Amino acid sequence: LAQLFRPLDMLGMVYRTIRQGLIDMEAMFRLIDTPSEITDAPGAAALHVAGGAVAFEDVVFGYEADRTILNGVSFAVGAGETLAIVGPSGAGKSTIARLLFRFYDPQGGRILIDGQDIRAVTQQSLRAAIGIVPQDTVLFNDSIGYNIAYGRADARVEEIAEAAKGAAIDGFIAMLPQGYETEVGERGLKLSGGEKQRVAIARTLLKNPPVLILDEATSALDSRTEAAIQDTLERIAERRTTLVIAHRLSTVTSADRIIVLDRGRVAETGTHDQLLAMRGLYADMWARQQAEREEGTV
Ligand code: ATP
Repeated sequence: LAQLFRPLDMLGMVYRTIRQGLIDMEAMFRLIDTPSEITDAPGAAALHVAGGAVAFEDVVFGYEADRTILNGVSFAVGAGETLAIVGPSGAGKSTIARLLFRFYDPQGGRILIDGQDIRAVTQQSLRAAIGIVPQDTVLFNDSIGYNIAYGRADARVEEIAEAAKGAAIDGFIAMLPQGYETEVGERGLKLSGGEKQRVAIARTLLKNPPVLILDEATSALDSRTEAAIQDTLERIAERRTTLVIAHRLSTVTSADRIIVLDRGRVAETGTHDQLLAMRGLYADMWARQQAEREEGTV
C-alpha cells in the first residue's frame, strides 16, 4: 500500500483531491506525470476509436488487497449510448470511472473500448478519447480562457468562444471586466459551483472526446442552475458514449440504460421504467427520493 501511495504522498494536495471523489484526472496526470503503477504495455498501440463502445467484463477491483470494491462487474454501453450508474454511497460508482480512465488496473476481468483492452493501448491515446466533467473542477490560477482551453494549447480564440457557448457560459464571460482574460481561481475571481462546472463542460467540448464521463455534482446547486446544467449535459451527451455517475435518480430517468451497483456487483439493469417495474433496489431508492423531495429535504 505504501508503494501505491508513495508518489501521491509527495503531493499531499493532489492526494487529498483524489480521495474527494472523481477529480479532474486529466489535470492530475499532467501534474504528477503518470503514477508509477500504470505503464504502457511494451509495444502498446494507439487506441482506435470506431464508435466508442465501452464494456466491463467481470471486473474485480479493490484499492487495498483485503477490501474488494468491485466484485465481478459486467456491463456494456453501445456507441453513442448513455449509461447511468447508480447505487448507494460508496458502492463504487466513481471507481468505475477511475478504472475506465486507467487510473488503476483491475485485479481481474477486462475493460474494453471498441473491443480493445485498455491495458493494451497507450495511455495517451486512451485519455485523449475520454472526456470527464468532474464533480468539482479545480481551476488554475489563470484566465478563464486558459482554463477552458486547458489541454488544448493550440485552441483558437473562436474555438474557445464556441465551446463557452456550448456550455452556456459565454454570456457570463461577456460580462466579466476582462472577458476571457479575466483571472480566476484562488487568486482571481471566485466562480460558483455551477460556473466551475460550466468551465469543465466547455473544456470537454473543446476536447470533443468520443467517450464522456459525467460525474454528477453531489454538492447542491440551486434547482434552476441544476436544471440548466442538466440540459447542457444532455446536449453534449448526444452522439457520444456517455457514462453518468449519478448520485440522484431524478437526473437519470432518460438514460438508455441504468445499472444499479450494490455490494460490488451489478444488482439490476434496465431503463427507468423497467427498473421501477422490478420493484427492487432501484424502485426502493426512487420511492425514498420521491418522499424526501415531497418533504422538501432535497
Ligand atoms: P459516492 O456516491 O458516495 O460518491 P461511489 O459509489 O462513487 O460513492 P467510490 O468513490 O467509487 O464510491 O468508492 C467506493 C469505495 O472505495 C468506498 O468505500 C471508498 O471509501 C473506497 N475508496 C475510494 N477511493 C479510494 C482510495 N483511493 N483508496 C482506498 N479506498 C478508496
